[in-house]
Amino acid sequence: MPKEHWLKSELAQLNQAGLSRSLRSVMTAPTGRTLLDGREVILLGSNNYLGLSVHPVVVEAAATAVQKYGTGASASRLMSGNCHLYTELETKIAEAKGTEAALVFGSGYLANIGTIPVLAGEGDLILSDALNHASIIDGCRLSQATKQIYRHCDVEHLESLLAQSMKLRHRLIVTDGVFSMDGDIAPLPEICGLAERYDATVMVDDAHSFGVLGETGGGTIEHFGLENRGVIQMGTLSKAIGGLGGYVAGSTALIDFLINRARSFIFTTGLPPATLAGASAAIDVIRSNPELRQRLFSNVLLLKNALLERGFQLLPSQTQILPLILGAADVASRFAEVLLSHGVYAPAIRPPTVPEGTSRLRISVIASHTTEDLETAVEGFEAASAATFR
Ligand SMILES: *Cc1c(COP(=O)(O)O)cnc(C)c1O
Repeated sequence: MPKEHWLKSELAQLNQAGLSRSLRSVMTAPTGRTLLDGREVILLGSNNYLGLSVHPVVVEAAATAVQKYGTGASASRLMSGNCHLYTELETKIAEAKGTEAALVFGSGYLANIGTIPVLAGEGDLILSDALNHASIIDGCRLSQATKQIYRHCDVEHLESLLAQSMKLRHRLIVTDGVFSMDGDIAPLPEICGLAERYDATVMVDDAHSFGVLGETGGGTIEHFGLENRGVIQMGTLSKAIGGLGGYVAGSTALIDFLINRARSFIFTTGLPPATLAGASAAIDVIRSNPELRQRLFSNVLLLKNALLERGFQLLPSQTQILPLILGAADVASRFAEVLLSHGVYAPAIRPPTVPEGTSRLRISVIASHTTEDLETAVEGFEAASAATFR
């Protein structure tokens, strides 16, 4: 097919730059180990932070729902796809978040690209952190609002942009709560203070903190005690919750407005019943088992200290995401390959996911890792380092 010539030459260029991506076959496992392309490896690339995708209570709830209600929703939620399990799940999310209401979307990606254009349109301004997730960036691109990027977590820069923006109608500040590739936490108390001073709305993406941060796993708002500050809390059910789906939690007015306006909510089929029942059960498990979070953070401490003691350069993350900075894309790819040959999988993250020159391994720790898993992983890192930088 001659028309595919240009695809092949672009793929070859990506390959040459060490930037090509490909799929691996990974088997979901109940432990910190998994089968990757048929081989057992220690998995340091999972977002299933609490192991809930295989938790017996969660699996049982999903299995019961599929037996009772079948495999699919059959229609979009505004037609006939609004399975009653949605109400239960949305009530639990709103409770966990301390908001009046919540709305579940098909995924976190869909929640962001649907919500941001509804909150900010022509004549409005969106202020977005430089390291925000791609789904936020795409939501901003779909919006007719003016967009400005502030330097990562730089509240002075944010304030200077807000100060120049008072002629615009609405201001929306949007930020990851925990940054997905850096593992640091957004300075939300300062951001909320600025929002109040400059009459702006704050939206936080809690994809990596729901279930993980805060006294009861509520996320970054609970972590900082910022309930009652009117922050719109968006997140996903695909990470610590262990399933699939996105959500937005906020006021009843906000949720009603989204039901009427968010295109990625309106024009897509509802989630399968099993997914909804599984997520509800997972939220219950999180709230009644604080020891899962304690286990996660003792694992984080163990691996982080072991790597730092051996001189590895980690970004100063405060969470379960530990970025090991390696620089050039091909160095990161090579390091990851050697690490994998030692039975440890952590994905190399390269541009455009992260800025040029900051390619890294994104190491994520989960509660299901055993001490032995983590000790074996550290040996793998030493071997990969010796082989890559020899
Ligand atoms: C994973 C992620 C999303 C997307 O969520 P999905 O449910 O996987 O579509 C959105 N924002 C951030 C920060 C994420 O890490």
